[in-house]
Amino acid sequence: MPESLADYLSRTLDAVRDATGGEVFDVPRALATADPELLAAAVCSVEGEVHTAGDADHEFTIQSVSKSFVYALALEQHGVDKVLEHVDVEPSGEAYNVISVEPESNRPRNPMINAGALTTHALVNGPGADAEERLETILECFSVMAGHQLHVDEEAARDELAQADRNRAIAYMLRAEGVMPDQAEDVVRGYTRQCSILVSARDLAVMAATLANGGVQPVTGERVHSLESARQTLSVMTTCGMYDSAGDWMSEVGIPAKSGVAGSIMGALPGRAGLAAYSPRLDRHGASVRGQLAFEHLSDELGLHLLDDP
Ligand code: GLU
Repeated sequence: MPESLADYLSRTLDAVRDATGGEVFDVPRALATADPELLAAAVCSVEGEVHTAGDADHEFTIQSVSKSFVYALALEQHGVDKVLEHVDVEPSGEAYNVISVEPESNRPRNPMINAGALTTHALVNGPGADAEERLETILECFSVMAGHQLHVDEEAARDELAQADRNRAIAYMLRAEGVMPDQAEDVVRGYTRQCSILVSARDLAVMAATLANGGVQPVTGERVHSLESARQTLSVMTTCGMYDSAGDWMSEVGIPAKSGVAGSIMGALPGRAGLAAYSPRLDRHGASVRGQLAFEHLSDELGLHLLDDP
């Protein structure tokens, strides 16, 4: 009998289990206290078939993986051109929390670094939107993508917010430059709560599959994004999703992806599948060590590199 995809994923996790390098992230406390041995992988095909292995139902905060989904939401609400007026799409080649703006227009360089993600968050529901409602819109959109109601880990959000000086500095700098169309403090709080939405590897695979499926949630069949919004999001994930290791990632793994400091990596392979890996120890770029290895295995063995010959 041929091996099932779930068994294959289990074997992939076994192959990376011994990689114990890296460190768990230390803010908020929920991350610092995560069990470093947790390990999960999940795949959702564009036909809506979900396969998982390891701790695939363990919940963790979505962190920067949320940036891709909120970017897709902003594109859906305002269109590509309008969003481009506020946030550029050039890889910065810098760490996620660097204050990086394009010098002529003062726009953040891309929506995957914090400067761009704070600006994208502020675009949701338009200028002057109620901060609470904005978060509700984001949570609702993520829940539709995951196929069930998601929740914010409010304690993690509070904890991170108490130590969010750097994001605050970025938001205030952007407001001073006239890029941030909103109350900087509300935006930092909303963005931090957005990063604190709880998901599992299974959820991330299904959410990624929505992008891979041209914006249609593959399990429920609901259209969440237009093809154009999904394509634009995948493009930016391809060039900027892995921060200052995006080039290495694209040449080695070749799957549009986004990492988050809780230890998850979400990848979307257009027309094929959404993928997710989770393990809390991170490399110096803030990406899961075992998660990256799991993606490398899958890409190599299953021939998933975007630029492989079909
Ligand atoms: N909440 C984190 C921050 O904004 C997310 C960073 C990440 O996941 O890369 O600093």
